[in-house]
Amino acid sequence: MLDSIRDLYQEVVFDHNRNPRNFRVMADANRTVEGYNPLCGDRITLYVKIGETGIIEDVSFQGAGCAISTASASLMTEIVRGQTEQEAEHLFNLFHRITTGQDDSLDPATLGKLAVLAGVRAYPARVKCATLPWHSLQSALKNQADTVSTE
Ligand code: ZN
Repeated sequence: MLDSIRDLYQEVVFDHNRNPRNFRVMADANRTVEGYNPLCGDRITLYVKIGETGIIEDVSFQGAGCAISTASASLMTEIVRGQTEQEAEHLFNLFHRITTGQDDSLDPATLGKLAVLAGVRAYPARVKCATLPWHSLQSALKNQADTVSTE
C-alpha cells in the first residue's frame, strides 16, 4: 500500500473510532439486527428505518468493537442514509469484493468515501471487522435474521 493511502486509512479509522457518527439507539427503527464477529469479538446493533418508498431514511448503531468495525459502521451509516435498498446493496457488493480481494480489477475509487477502507485488504484478519456492519445491514434490508455472525 502506498504510504499516503495507509496514512489516510489510519487517520479515518482513528477519527471515526474516536468519534463515531450515528452512534445511538433509534427508537423508531423498523429493523434491528445484532451482528457478531467471533474472530475479533466485535458486536454491533444496527438500527434501520426504511421508508415506504424503500429509501433508508435513518440508520444508526450501538455496540462494542475494535477500531475498524466501529469506523466501518460509522462510515456506513453516513453513506447509506438517503440511499435506496438497491443502492446500498450494490455498494455492499462492491465493498465486499474489494475488501476481500476477490476482484482486483475493481478500482477502490468506485467506492467513493468508502475507498479508504479498502486499505483493510492489507490486513486479512481484519476484513470481517470491516464487513460486519455491512452484513448486518444486508440482513436488515432483506429482512432476514435478527442476528448475524461472520462465522
Ligand atoms: Zn474487529
